Amino acid sequence: MTEEKKITRKKLKSAAAINKFMADYYYELSAASESGDPKIAWCTSVGPAEILRAMGYLVYFPETHSAMLGATRMATDLIPEANALGYSPDICSYLTADIGAFLKGVTPLAKIYEGITGIPKPDVLVFNTNQCRDVQDWFSWYGEKFNAPVLGVYTHRNVGNVSGALVSSIAKQMQDLTGSLERLSGRSLDLDKLKQVVALSRECSELWKKVLQTAASQPSPLTFFDATTLMGPAVVGRGTQKAVDVFKALLLELEQRIQNKEGAIEEEQFRIYWEGMPVWGRLRAHSELFAGLNANVLASTYCNSWIFSKLDPEDPFNSMAEAYTELFIVRSDAAKESYIRDMLDLYKIDGIIYHDAKTCPNNSNCRYGMPQRLEKQSGIPSLTIHGDLNDLRLLSDEQTKTNVEAFIEQLEESGK
Ligand code: SF4
Repeated sequence: MTEEKKITRKKLKSAAAINKFMADYYYELSAASESGDPKIAWCTSVGPAEILRAMGYLVYFPETHSAMLGATRMATDLIPEANALGYSPDICSYLTADIGAFLKGVTPLAKIYEGITGIPKPDVLVFNTNQCRDVQDWFSWYGEKFNAPVLGVYTHRNVGNVSGALVSSIAKQMQDLTGSLERLSGRSLDLDKLKQVVALSRECSELWKKVLQTAASQPSPLTFFDATTLMGPAVVGRGTQKAVDVFKALLLELEQRIQNKEGAIEEEQFRIYWEGMPVWGRLRAHSELFAGLNANVLASTYCNSWIFSKLDPEDPFNSMAEAYTELFIVRSDAAKESYIRDMLDLYKIDGIIYHDAKTCPNNSNCRYGMPQRLEKQSGIPSLTIHGDLNDLRLLSDEQTKTNVEAFIEQLEESGK
């Protein structure tokens, strides 16, 4: 079982178009940052991007930048810079790595995209606390640095039932943002334009959902590790036609793989669900570790987080409020468990990996007995690995490898 096996990574052709999409996105932001036109809004990854886009802002997402700091393994050395300012090593390592990078004047954008020298300057920063409180602190720090206004939507968390009253209160907050955004941009919100953007965002979301659901096929044409790098347009491009176009091509390619019975890994013996954040600096190592054990990590809560099925162009504010509140991360443990049970059925899962990310309790759902409860209900075993999204000092590669190998061996012995 532990014998090393040579792994060939199967590339998707559509990945090139997605890389080009991301390059165009960052070059457009860079040009706007230099010229001052159009204005730039920073937004949290599950914030109200549609409103910003409909009002003519280009939208920049610092979390995606921070994930790049992780994937390029720049993050770990930058985190102490933010710690020195008083941001604890125990809080979000997206925040600490990103602020650390700014203080050191470095960015992965400059390494990847020739000619880009820095992150785009914000004219306004807009957060939603639906995911965590860290984003508010993170955006407030930059707001002060750039002397730019910081606006927020305050969403309750641990939500069981997404009630009408809750949706209305969040929709009202979203509507209230528009006054400040109009004053800043000098443009009024055009409701027809907003409906158009919400329709495109919904279409992007539906395509992304279909892309992810191709993994229900046996063998799965997609891995979680591929999906973490393919999902860029769902995060930064929702509400644009270009994002819709690249996902249509990706979906076609995956459907072709299904027709050809071509799996994403050479031999798919075990089907695994990933609960929690990726370890950005170990995407390749983890993908090879699992593939080498004939285990396909093929579905995840994380990549599903950019599916916004409730968006409705005919009712933009209420539907945005509902879509951004019914998300997994916002919900109670009971709602989360019900969601994961559905995923286990849909993807015919043999085992679950929980990633306990030290600096993100919001995406670490294994700390209050959930793995044990779900195993009791579903009979599907799980393994918790300890690590972090960005801070590589918080994980042990050896320990992870040993534990994953033992877990897959256990699945094999149980006849999965
Ligand atoms: S959800 Fe976690 S990783 Fe994301 S910004 Fe909040 S604390 Fe950071």
